[in-house]
Amino acid sequence: MKRQVKIMKTTPNEKLLKKALNAGKTKKYADKIFHQEKEIFDLKQLLQISKSLNSVLQFDRLIEAILYIVMAQLKTFGAAIFTKKSFDDNLFVLNRDHYGFDISREVQYSINVDHPLINFLDKSDSGCTPDEIGKNIKTDKIVKDLFSLSPSFFVPLKAKNRMIGFLLLGEKMESSHEFTDYEKNIIENIASLAAIAINNSQLLEMTTTDIMTHLKLKHYFFTLLMERLDIINSSGAKKEPLSILMIDIDFFKKINDTYGHAAGDIVLEEVARVIKSCTRNADTAARYGGEEFVVMLNNTPVSAAMAIAERIRKLVEESAILYDGQKINVTISIGVSSYNFDLEPAKSIVDRADKALYESKQNGRNRVTLSKNNLPKD
Ligand code: GH3
Ligand code: MG
Ligand code: MG
Repeated sequence: MKRQVKIMKTTPNEKLLKKALNAGKTKKYADKIFHQEKEIFDLKQLLQISKSLNSVLQFDRLIEAILYIVMAQLKTFGAAIFTKKSFDDNLFVLNRDHYGFDISREVQYSINVDHPLINFLDKSDSGCTPDEIGKNIKTDKIVKDLFSLSPSFFVPLKAKNRMIGFLLLGEKMESSHEFTDYEKNIIENIASLAAIAINNSQLLEMTTTDIMTHLKLKHYFFTLLMERLDIINSSGAKKEPLSILMIDIDFFKKINDTYGHAAGDIVLEEVARVIKSCTRNADTAARYGGEEFVVMLNNTPVSAAMAIAERIRKLVEESAILYDGQKINVTISIGVSSYNFDLEPAKSIVDRADKALYESKQNGRNRVTLSKNNLPKD
């Protein structure tokens, strides 16, 4: 009887159960209904999880979504994900987003794809406990570091039969409870949805990113800019400002001619690094062409955009780029424009920043110029 009361409290369809019990059906029958109800409920949840994971393509946001889903569904106080930084990497590293683990700054938390722990995880579909791992593989420093986080469960993340990372589950909300086969099946399903989503997100990342500078490619930049303008245009009366920077390295041909093409490449990488360091995650920096860059600054009015542009310009001017023992002096010119609202096309905002950049070049380079056709807003 005690157990029946518990079922009534937790079943997704209380009414149906009551009916079954009132009709004097056996406990076995009520249990069966309960389990079928739970299965339907869990399948609906999985469908929901699949939909939500497929709608998030941006890697960082995806990882965050997976962690929340895992903690809620598997009832743990924490979760963390290990993935490769890029496809050709041979290390699984702890993603910077994680919850509920006491992470030490002195530890790297990375593990080689050939490590016995990875091979062991690869063979277990639904995952394993630290105990099972401890009994089957030698506990070296890497395993010790992972165990020191007190994980409750390790789950492989597999896409197309290939391990693309793994999941660490933190302390369970019901600490004495071992995962049942049914729960392990759910873990496996969630892990497989998460792995496919991560794989897709990494593929998108790879095909939209410039290999040399690690900035976005031009066509993808325009896709993101147009998406952003759609959001701004459909928002209420108080619209978020948006600004664009067009950046071009000054006399880059001369740098190539003087120091060689390889030195030119290093300069490109360094300028890209400075640009990235001055922008937030919400912004998008892209390689527009050979030695030209474009930046979309979200929720940034023109005054703030001018300040960011000036910071980038100054940092590049002051950067000490060494090549073959020689210091290469580099400067850049920048044009700034801000979205004029009222459905100004993406191309027009970028063109205005490009015209302003041209003015910077005309007026002696190594400077920032604001588009003349910006409507005064702030
Ligand atoms: P300005 O100040 O007017 O911008 O002069 P510039 O010399 O920077 O401009 P120009 O357009 O004349 O030259 C750009 C050069 O950039 C020419 C091209 O060979 C070089 N370039 C383009 N892509 C790459 C690259 O990936 N690596 C290297 N090293 N050079 C590149
Ligand atoms: Mg140039
Ligand atoms: Mg150029």
